[in-house]
Parts: sequence; C-alpha cells; structure tokens
Amino acid sequence: MKKYEGLNQAMLEQYAPRPGQRALLPELSDKAQVALMCRMLTREGWNEHIAGHITYRLDNGNILTNPWELAWGELTASDIVTLDPQGQIIDSDWNVTPAIGLHLQLHALRPDTHVVIHNHAHWSGIWACMQRVPPVYDQASGYCGVELPLYNEYEGTFEDQATSLSAAEALGDAKWALLANHGSLVVGRDLRQAHLRVITLEWRSKRAYEVALAGGGKPLSDEEVKKLSIADDNGFPFCWEAMARKELRLDPTLVD
Ligand SMILES: [Zn+2]
Repeated sequence: MKKYEGLNQAMLEQYAPRPGQRALLPELSDKAQVALMCRMLTREGWNEHIAGHITYRLDNGNILTNPWELAWGELTASDIVTLDPQGQIIDSDWNVTPAIGLHLQLHALRPDTHVVIHNHAHWSGIWACMQRVPPVYDQASGYCGVELPLYNEYEGTFEDQATSLSAAEALGDAKWALLANHGSLVVGRDLRQAHLRVITLEWRSKRAYEVALAGGGKPLSDEEVKKLSIADDNGFPFCWEAMARKELRLDPTLVD
C-alpha cells in the first residue's frame, strides 16, 4: 500500500513485519486492489445490485473506478476502468456511471482524498432512510470516531453536476456521511483507511439497529469512542489484509 504523511508511525513500527514472517498479501496491482475492494465491500452490505462506485486516484492524477455494467461481486482487475482527472475513459470498453461527478468533485476539492466510495448500503442505508445517526454501542462501531454527518438536502440523483457539487461542498472535511433517503458515502486517504471506515460504518449501523430492536442500550460515551478511534489513522492492523485474503481464497481469478 502507499505511504502518506500523517500516519501513526509508532503504530506502524510496532506492528511492522517481523523478520521471516510470510507476506500477508501477494503483490497486487492498483487495479487488483480496487477489484478487491469491490469484492470485500459487497460482502459487507454495500451491494445494491449494480449501484455504487469506488474511485481511487493514482499519483499521476488518473482515477481508477469500477465499470457501470458489472456488479461489485463479479468484476476482476482487468475490468477496472482508468479515467483521466476530468473523468474521460482512457483504457476500457466499459462505461462509467454518469453519477461519477460527485467523486470527481470530491477528489478535486480535497487533495488528501485519494479514495471515494458510494453505495446504497444495507445497514447504514436504513439509518439514512430514517434520517438518524446510529449511536456507537461497541468497540467495533467506534474505530473511526463518533461524528457522522447526515446530508439531508436530497434533490434527486447525483447525476446532476450542481446537486453533486453542493453535496461535495457540504461534506467539507468529513470522512463519511449518510445521504438521507439515498445511501452512504466514505472517503479516505488510501484504500486501507477507506475500507476500515466502510466496515465500521456498516457494523455500527447494524449493531445500533439490532440494539434498538432488542429494546435499546446505553451508547459508549464520546470519550470512550475517542480512545477507540486511533485505528482510523492507519486502518485496523491486519484487517484489510485478512479480508482481502478471504476474497482471494474464494476467487483467485479476481486479480486477473
Ligand atoms: Zn447513489
């Protein structure tokens, strides 16, 4: 994975590979990593049929994304499309969703944001439809902090450039958002951080929904969540790799 400024260096050094330890993942191309993200996140409930887009901006400014025609659960590395920074397809016969504008605008507005992910997610989508923010009840719900904006100025789909620009601007410097009556949005510095944010948002939403169904509970305090949220900086140690290995075991051809 790429290295960026601002990482928790002490944690990286503490959990660096030990001499002789086997690699946690094989060498993966950028496209293979995007395909892996699609496979991992569809399993987490970010899986509304062919909806949803992952964009990953490379160092040269080009952007990798999933094709419109294929579901996240079936695509492979060679299906991943390269766009120039203006969103024009460089190297694929597949199409890209017209709703890609929100992603391009977020990448342009936020140089730190190399990954943008949107889908009509299962559990966080329930809270988006209720126009409520799920409380944090347990450890795995708290890895990315408590603050979760709810963007409720929904005026149709994000295929309209003005609508998507107002959403991109409203997001400000948030790491994620619930889009009322629509879905969920997560951004990240890299794929690893974005993965933790997606799985944490989905876990938190599922757990809070189940706690509410079971009669309610006592959420963690903001102070307690703050202690858990140190994971947000680097991603939870080894989690991205473990979930990626699971997909590679299930379908080794996804890197082709
Ligand atoms: Zn959408």
